[in-house]
Amino acid sequence: MTAIVNVGYDSTNYYVLGQGRQRLLVDVGWPNTLPKLLFTLKRKDIPLEHIGHLLATHYHPDHAGLAQELKARGVRLVVIDLQRPFIPLLRRVMKPDHRFVDIALHDNAEIACEASRAFLSTLGIAGDIVHTPGHSDDSVSLVLDEGVAFTGDLTSPFAIDDTIAERVLASWALLRAKGVRSVYPGHGPSPRPIPPPSGHDGLPVK
Ligand SMILES: [Zn+2]
Repeated sequence: MTAIVNVGYDSTNYYVLGQGRQRLLVDVGWPNTLPKLLFTLKRKDIPLEHIGHLLATHYHPDHAGLAQELKARGVRLVVIDLQRPFIPLLRRVMKPDHRFVDIALHDNAEIACEASRAFLSTLGIAGDIVHTPGHSDDSVSLVLDEGVAFTGDLTSPFAIDDTIAERVLASWALLRAKGVRSVYPGHGPSPRPIPPPSGHDGLPVK
């Protein structure tokens, strides 16, 4: 079983996976909140130097806002190739008082989903990263072979409007097909069971 520690704050969940000096952080908070993250890590007894890599499930402020600030402290940012075009868009939603540090594109560990299993194995993690659009087109989920998934903001299939319903349901169906039983979401209670395979109000069951 992979060690999973929730180091979230400000109503968002962030997760540290693994043990030793090569741990993986899944998602990171708003810009200018590094003291909050450091405080939470300290409380959970995780030295920042033991976090080797960061994966953002998607490039929204509450999931990737601190990315460059962590890179400056020696954490390698793992970018899935399909996410790359979305990274420069993040600065557009930031206001000056967020003090956002723009995320450089040239110095990340950029991989395709297909290469994620080999990459994760170098961190001692058995699993892969899959594209799970719905909340946003750059959303990915980290799926562990033990049947848990880190889904970021993949919307509940019971709380969606029809414009994104198809994509959200397809993403949940993909996760179920991969054997996921337990979900570590970006917000709310965690972990929780994967939603059952039925939509709401006449949506197709996938
Ligand atoms: Zn979020």
